[in-house]
Amino acid sequence: MSTKVTLIPGDGIGPRITAATVRLLEAAGANVEWERREAGIAAMETASHSPLPEETLASIRATRVALKGPLTTPVGVGFRSINVALRKEFDLYANVRPAKTLMRGGRYEDIDLVLIRENTEGLYVGVEHYIGMGDDPRAAAESVMIITRFGAERIVRYAFEYAVRNGRRKVTLAHKANILKYTQGLFLDVGRAIAQEYESRVAFEDRIIDATAMHLVLDPYQFDVLVMENMFGDILSDQMAGLVGGLGMAPGGNIGAEAAMFEPVHGSAPDLAGKGIANPTAMILAGCMMLDHIDQGGVAARIRGALDSTFRARDTLTRDLGGQGTTDNFTDAVIARLDPAD
Ligand code: NAD
Repeated sequence: MSTKVTLIPGDGIGPRITAATVRLLEAAGANVEWERREAGIAAMETASHSPLPEETLASIRATRVALKGPLTTPVGVGFRSINVALRKEFDLYANVRPAKTLMRGGRYEDIDLVLIRENTEGLYVGVEHYIGMGDDPRAAAESVMIITRFGAERIVRYAFEYAVRNGRRKVTLAHKANILKYTQGLFLDVGRAIAQEYESRVAFEDRIIDATAMHLVLDPYQFDVLVMENMFGDILSDQMAGLVGGLGMAPGGNIGAEAAMFEPVHGSAPDLAGKGIANPTAMILAGCMMLDHIDQGGVAARIRGALDSTFRARDTLTRDLGGQGTTDNFTDAVIARLDPAD
């Protein structure tokens, strides 16, 4: 029986890389029935005039799994981030961002890291305001970092469970508890307590976030699974994408108890929209994570194998990777390299 999946093509390069991904997943034998829905700028142009229409939410509520292209968020003005709204609506608390080498010959070889980012708390709750002084209504601004024991416990536990499930050896918790003794201190205390439950199965260490950033560049091989609060995870996961060839190579999963949403880490790349030259790899890898999630890991493995052969051949690499390939001819090359199904 096929699995229903909500498909949100998104904005900018989104529709093109989503179409390429769907074509590849279907060629690889994914047993999926897509429910195509809109969100973001694309949705504003439909009858609902809402960046997050109710029928899109209803579809995710029913299917409980979505594959989503990037969405444009107006900077400073206009509607709030739809990505953040979706994470909040479905309480998608765990942001799983793997960084694995596919493109060889770069600064680093054989990178295989996974960052687990807390997705619902920290500074990104958006509790902020201006403070007026004298005749300046915006003389200062304050933002509140919120860490709860509940939120810290479930993300650290998710990281350890992920490590156990995927045969990983170590979890590193990165924090800033030396300065932010209450918020980061709570996150660290909770992490240390949970680590004890997994002591015999998964190694644990904690590190200060800034030193972690440096060590990730100096010697990334000392890390395995990393867990941290929201904003630190946002920043370090982009840094980790840089270790494996850039944003075009980095997928992410947003996982909650009731639903999961998979997407590329990159945005809608307005500079590339309509040109057909965006790298679809991050979106394809997000599709593979989605297939793993719906128990079609065998199909995902075929796609990852074909991607690996295509990167080894280097014949259709897109421009961000120094090639001349297009979204579509790169995808054709991957399809041509799919191993025949058993
Ligand atoms: P971006 O990720 O869209 O682009 C950053 C740079 O990376 C650009 O030079 C772009 O050309 C390049 N790039 C991104 N994806 C690529 C790909 N697949 N192939 C080749 N090159 C690629 O970031 P931005 O420009 O800061 O943001 C653009 C819009 O996307 C904004 O509205 C932002 O809010 C939104 N955004 C959405 C998401 C999401 O939907 N999850 C994530 C990040 C940014």
